[in-house]
Amino acid sequence: MTTRDLLAAAAAHAADFLEGLDQRPVHATATLADLRTALHRPLPDRPEAATTVLDELVSDTAGGLLGSAGGRFFGWVIGGVVPAALAADWLTATWDQNAALYTCGPAEAVIEEITGEWLKELLGLPSSASFAFTTGTQMGHLTALAAARHHLLASRGWDVERQGLSGASAVRVLTSGLEHASIQRSVRLLGMGTDALVAVGHDENDRIDLAELERTLDEHADAATVVCLGAGEINTGSFDDYTRACQLAHAYDSWVHVDGAFGLWAAVSPLHRHLVTGLELADSWTTDAHKWLNVPFDSGLVFVAHPKAHRAAISTRASYLVHADDANPSKSSGPPARDQIDWNPEWSRRGRGVAVYAALRALGRQGIAETVERCSRLAHRLVTEIGALPGAEVIVVPQINQGLVRFLAPDGSHDQHTDTMIDRIQATGQAWFGGATYRGMRVMRVSVVNWGTTDSDVDRAVTAVRDVLTRALHEPEEGRA
Ligand SMILES: *Cc1c(COP(=O)(O)O)cnc(C)c1O
Repeated sequence: MTTRDLLAAAAAHAADFLEGLDQRPVHATATLADLRTALHRPLPDRPEAATTVLDELVSDTAGGLLGSAGGRFFGWVIGGVVPAALAADWLTATWDQNAALYTCGPAEAVIEEITGEWLKELLGLPSSASFAFTTGTQMGHLTALAAARHHLLASRGWDVERQGLSGASAVRVLTSGLEHASIQRSVRLLGMGTDALVAVGHDENDRIDLAELERTLDEHADAATVVCLGAGEINTGSFDDYTRACQLAHAYDSWVHVDGAFGLWAAVSPLHRHLVTGLELADSWTTDAHKWLNVPFDSGLVFVAHPKAHRAAISTRASYLVHADDANPSKSSGPPARDQIDWNPEWSRRGRGVAVYAALRALGRQGIAETVERCSRLAHRLVTEIGALPGAEVIVVPQINQGLVRFLAPDGSHDQHTDTMIDRIQATGQAWFGGATYRGMRVMRVSVVNWGTTDSDVDRAVTAVRDVLTRALHEPEEGRA
């Protein structure tokens, strides 16, 4: 089989998968044991035909793939893939450039340069900000907090890249207490330790408590401080008061970082833009392209309002590399080319910006705004319609694409009942929701970020939930199993 035939076979498998999403169960039907049995082989000694490898990859993973690329997956915060981005991602793999340096992959360096500028404009961030295309928000946080640490310690006469942290002023990180665990992990990986995190608290709408923030800032007015805000809290999608929080933080020379993994995209929608008012005043921002922009995993973004600090924290040099800004300047016009290694924590890397570039072109500003608005409207439908079913209760009505419901047991054991109902809803294969603990109670999370989710997907999901709840009402014993 030629490479062309193999790629055509892969394209056919891919199309079959996508076209089958609407009929197949959304949950995984294979067990761990099934998958191990299907996929396990002794380490192959001899070469196998690529077509056999490919065909068996498809047959052996059957039942082991979630339908998260489809329109009825409402778990975690997981987007699908717009076709243009998927196809561009295939090309990226095909070109197999090392997008670490301009010299390793000139076209991809220019694509990231342009795409970064587009994103700042689209998301309403300062045009002077630096940026990087990371694997996800997690590595975006790591990059941004490394830049923050550099900036805060440099202004105290400390070169953290050279001197490390031992002997440096402690850097504290103030949060609402609702920060995503990826913030905690970044603080750990940066050697600051989770003791650096200080939860100042939040109000009843899950926004950072501004009075407590001010009090905590003032308590150690000279401390090197990062204030970490959120744009789209993981369970409720809440947004902080950026204008006030940034004013307070900056009055104490603190750095403001915003985790906007999905919520930053509210900036694109005229309907929801008010939620991110003042967000441009922050010092760094992270978001994901693999969530609401619906590009393939793994694709995150970080922006930093202080390019010098960003570069000082991340950039690296080695004699065997060829850096664009070391090249003979007389050869080219305009600013030096972008070397991604100056901004990205990775060394070798795929041209992650290519799929983002394709998604932005294929959707346009209007397509992205429409996706954000439709997902938010459908999340509202899901929460209010499920919440209105007998035996269900609304906990958080979405103001954007995230909301919470729970299920009520006649004997008051709502937590256990909610988990049981979630399991049974998943088992219908019609829709997939996950659970969480919110304010001490078990809840079912509703997250809509897939570009392809429609009203009829929501109809099917609500029907599936209604059937499960109706059965539970008539067979209460089953609920205790
Ligand atoms: C998804 C998410 C993260 C983690 O992002 P990754 O892309 O998985 O690294 C962080 N914060 C929030 C609010 C998220 O939704």
